Parts: sequence; C-alpha cells; structure tokens
Amino acid sequence: MDTSTLCVHGCAKKFDTTGAVAVPIFASATFAHPGVGQSTGFDYSRSLNPTTVHLEDTVAALEGGCSAVAFSSGMAAVSALMELFSPGDHVIASDDLYGGTVRLFTFISEKNGVKVSYAAPQDIEKEVRPSTKAVFIETPSNPMMRVTDIAAIAAVAKKNNLLLIVDNTFLTPYLQKPFSLGADIVLHSGTKYLGGHNDTLAGMLVVKDPKLDEKIRFIAKTTGGCLSPFDSFLLIRGIKTLAVRMERQQETALKIVDWLLKQNAVKKVYYPGLKEHPDYEISRRQASGFGAMISFTVQDGQTAVRVLESVKIIKYAESLGGVESLITYPMLQTHADLPESERNARGINDCLLRLSVGLEAADDLIADLEQAFR
Ligand SMILES: *Cc1c(COP(=O)(O)O)cnc(C)c1O
Repeated sequence: MDTSTLCVHGCAKKFDTTGAVAVPIFASATFAHPGVGQSTGFDYSRSLNPTTVHLEDTVAALEGGCSAVAFSSGMAAVSALMELFSPGDHVIASDDLYGGTVRLFTFISEKNGVKVSYAAPQDIEKEVRPSTKAVFIETPSNPMMRVTDIAAIAAVAKKNNLLLIVDNTFLTPYLQKPFSLGADIVLHSGTKYLGGHNDTLAGMLVVKDPKLDEKIRFIAKTTGGCLSPFDSFLLIRGIKTLAVRMERQQETALKIVDWLLKQNAVKKVYYPGLKEHPDYEISRRQASGFGAMISFTVQDGQTAVRVLESVKIIKYAESLGGVESLITYPMLQTHADLPESERNARGINDCLLRLSVGLEAADDLIADLEQAFR
C-alpha cells in the first residue's frame, strides 16, 4: 500500500463496531473488567487507550516498525528513551541537534550518570568506548540542515553492537524511512509534521524489535508521559493529510529557496535540496524528498531582527511543520540554552534564521519576505 493511502486510512480500525469512518475518541481514564483476572485488553489509559493505540499502530505502519508508543511531547519521548540507559552508559550524539534534546542530555541525562558525547557524523566511530550503548542522530539536523548518512552510521552501530536512534521529525516517514536504512528506534516530535496544524504537542518512539517495544512500553506506563485520547485523535487527523502537505510544503520551499538565493541581503541558504549542499547526494539517496525546512543567513543581526519583526503572514514563532509558516531565531529560541561558544562553532549566530514553510501560496510567502527584507 502506498504511504499516502496508509496516511488517510491508518491501521485497521480495531475498536469500533459502529462503522464510524473517523476514529472515535475514547475519553476514558479507566476500563471496566468483565471478571476477576479478566481484561478487555484495556485497563487504564496511562498504559493503553484505544484511540492512542490507533495512532501508535498507524505511525508504526508508516515507519515500517513493529510498534510505536505515543508521548505527550517530543521531549517526553526523548526523556523516556533515555530511561533505556543506566548510570555509566555512554551515548554518542551527532553534533547538530534540536536544542531541547541537547538540554535534556546536558542537564538530565548527565545528572543521572549517562554520559553523552557529540561528534560529527564521520567521527562517530572514533567516539565508541566500551561503555557506549547507542548512537543518536537527527537528519536533516536542526537548524543547520546537515544530513547524516543513516546506512553508514547503522553499519558502525551494528559492528559495535549499539542501538541506532534516528530523530525523523523533519522528513517524516513520508519522505524518509530510517528502519529501511538500519535504524533501531525512530523518534518524532509529533507536534511538527505528523500533527501538522500547530494545535497540539506529541511525541513518538517507534521500534522494529518487539523486545525493545516491551521495554519502552514499561518505561512509558511507569513514567506516565502518555498522550491523551483527544490529542491522539488530532494526530490521527493530521496524519491523514501528511502526504499532500509534505508534497506542497516542499514544492513551496524550493520556490522560496530559489528566491532567497537571488537576494543581496541573504548570504547563505541551507537546504539539502540544493546541489551545492555538501550532503545533497546522501539526501537524494536516502530520502524521497528534501522537506520544507530552510535555514539562511542574512548580512547582519539587524537585518535578521528586522525580518523577524516585519513578516506578516509568516509568524515569528517557535516550532515547525504546521500549515502556518513560521520563522524562528535559533540563537534566541530553540538553541538559547547552548553556550555561546558552542553556538558560534555550529554557525548558530545572530545572522541565522530558520523558516518552516507552511501551506500558504508561494507567491504570498515570497511577497511577505520581500516586504520584510525592504
Ligand atoms: C521540536 C522537536 C523536538 C521536541 O519535540 P516537542 O514536541 O517540542 O517536545 C525534538 N526533535 C526535533 C527535531 C524537534 O524539532
């Protein structure tokens, strides 16, 4: 079945006998038992809820995994993920990541005794130690749009007996399927493209090994960061249009990239679909599209501030992947908690802007940017 069909219909509907075309919201915290020692399969919604299970099975099917667990946010998913590790364990992370993930590694994982070190993708193998348990990558990365060769890192992980975790938030399973390239765990901020409407937060951990599913489910029900039935419904509804949204958003992104390249005030455009992007070939090989996230630098900090304060249709706001186009200032928003030296080393300075291209008409977005640059 094509991914776009799977997006619309989701997994087989298991829990409804009325023929309802939309998935019902089972707004119930608890479920009555038919008898002592018996269960309908549902006991308490922190462990399993029918609406949430429908979402989980749909995302698992989209990614080609065996199962998925939904969380109340992407960070709740990362937080649960890190509970797989024990004090003394070591995790290698790629060196350009969502700022919230770096914050969690730095202030929570380290405190709990899990050491995280960072490496450029080509240096990951050099970081492997006897205590290393996993490699965590995000591709394309946030905000520098670097692309990591997932299959190459999977080979390193396999050779060293490490779990490979891939944050697939930016491309979604519609454009990139990390399991087919050797990943063990796929992570999503469902807040972004999966939900797609800037109206809810969600996170997902998807696995292809039932043993790993058992561990993650145990952590999820024990730590309690579950997604509510209503938010599960919003994600299910969002995913129905994932394929058309991704197609249209990336088509518009390409038009905006072309326009940005012609502007004198724009110094550099970071988009993996550009032939001059250093990772263009890897991108083409491992994904079926380049997505709709663009980072770019302008001539100076003043221009960046002017653009942020002058856009009208595009909103100056955190987050990405929704129908509304959003522009962010990574230095002050997503990556504010990174030390300045580290930010600068990564190119996250006062000239860098990140644009999430939404579903508005390309001409309107370009006209909006044009008036903001003036
Ligand atoms: C937003 C984001 C997260 C965190 O997800 P929340 O839903 O905001 O908690 C993690 N990874 C990436 C790549 C993100 O963009």
